[in-house]
Amino acid sequence: MKVLKWVVKRFFPKKLLKGIKDLRLKVKGRKNERLFKGQNVICPCCGKMFSRFMHYIDDHPRFKDTYKNTQCPYCFSAPRHRIICSYLENNIDNVFGKRDNAIIMFGAEYSIKKWFHRNGFRYVTSDLFDRTADIMCDIQNTPFPDETWDLIVCNHVLEHVPDYKKSLKELQRILKKDGLLELTVPTDRNFETVFENPSIVSKEERTKIFGQYDHVRIFGNDFENILVELGFSVEVIDGNNLPNNIVGVIGPANYDDNRVYLCRKNVTKTDQ
Ligand SMILES: [Zn+2]
Repeated sequence: MKVLKWVVKRFFPKKLLKGIKDLRLKVKGRKNERLFKGQNVICPCCGKMFSRFMHYIDDHPRFKDTYKNTQCPYCFSAPRHRIICSYLENNIDNVFGKRDNAIIMFGAEYSIKKWFHRNGFRYVTSDLFDRTADIMCDIQNTPFPDETWDLIVCNHVLEHVPDYKKSLKELQRILKKDGLLELTVPTDRNFETVFENPSIVSKEERTKIFGQYDHVRIFGNDFENILVELGFSVEVIDGNNLPNNIVGVIGPANYDDNRVYLCRKNVTKTDQ
């Protein structure tokens, strides 16, 4: 089965692969929609209502106390996605103004794509390994000219890359002067600063320490300061301030701390 999956991922035509992926999620979502029929909670990503959010099953210790009632049954959004889509929904005019903005998502997420589709926005997806992405590139060194994008969405990507500061500088370079960069990262509130250790290389150790086999760091309490030092002006949206029927809980892992960072370039008057 593993071999078959590898062959499909590696050799199937990109369009077909993308179609299969989306169809699988659609069928699963339709089934869940019936199972969780109700009106107690609402997902701003897909716009659907349910009796409750689903539990996210993962046997890693970091999910032990935070996995319940976290995932949208239909579009599989986590709380962080619902915070982002709720923000986009409430700020649609200030953020975009017009529908022909240049939007890119690094590490494209099904639930956020749903919001863009529902609201008539076009976007481009980018990933280093995923063949279904529109553009395959390294976030540390992208092929885009300076100031290309009005909106950059980058969720849970910076814990995977070798150099996260280089990636942030690259995102700053390709963001338009009045553009918006939306970021989330796994954060352990017990750490004052970023925790990374290049000697931790095995999948087992990375899973144990960082929560996933391909994570190479976990961020700490100073992430906002890091962004400011790199020249962004930062607005933090705390999901705890949103209604319980959208984001009731932290999770699904204990490093999903329900904070979304909205970053803009610091532009002086002479730059404008
Ligand atoms: Zn949803």
